[in-house]
Amino acid sequence: MCRHLAWLGEPRSVSSLVLDPPCGLLRQSYAPRRQKRGLLNADGWGVGFLDTDGGVRRWRSARPLWGDASFASVAPVLSSGAVLAAVRSATAGMPTDESAAAPFSDGEWLLSHNGRVSREAVPARADAESVCDSALLAAHVFAAGAANAVDTVREVARLDPDAYLNLLMITSDRIVGITWGDELSYLVEPDGVVVASEPWDDDPRWVDVPDHHRVEVTRSGVTVTDLETA
Ligand code: GLN
Repeated sequence: MCRHLAWLGEPRSVSSLVLDPPCGLLRQSYAPRRQKRGLLNADGWGVGFLDTDGGVRRWRSARPLWGDASFASVAPVLSSGAVLAAVRSATAGMPTDESAAAPFSDGEWLLSHNGRVSREAVPARADAESVCDSALLAAHVFAAGAANAVDTVREVARLDPDAYLNLLMITSDRIVGITWGDELSYLVEPDGVVVASEPWDDDPRWVDVPDHHRVEVTRSGVTVTDLETA
């Protein structure tokens, strides 16, 4: 399973979110601490963010994050108040070019999927960015409306009960995370909130979001909903 992270708050540099934390995505690309399936996330990476005009910007690669010296050079001068990043461990049989790396986008939302799903359980859509299962799922979530993502996850899970459907999505004013087969953690900082597959350090303020929950972050706070009872 891949590892992903989202930030909503005051602008922070991409390097401070992705490369600098001691157990952040860079370290998680070769030594994740809480990953249940897979040892490495070496099949590419992606960073997406909202620019000052609200436009979606992305930089994705099929290479391991640890080997990307050019990204490490530029990441300190890329900053945004809404960032989504992921490192990838490709599911067997999936394409490995950069178009299969998260985050995916419809021009308004950025989406990362941590898990796997049978491609038969997701409608084939011409606007999917790749034939990768995650890209098909992203296109389906976008088409059904980001506000309906929980319903979409439930519907896909009915068609493929073995699917892992952990989603992390951002747009300019919110983060939405869904745990379906894995967990998330979040940390409230003075200048914003980070939501991640696993804590980027041992700060005791990290809060765990268990499986089958939805977490939403807006400028006014964090809301966690139990999907078993909702
Ligand atoms: N199934 C997706 C892929 O192949 C995501 C894999 C994952 O979460 N490890 O990229």
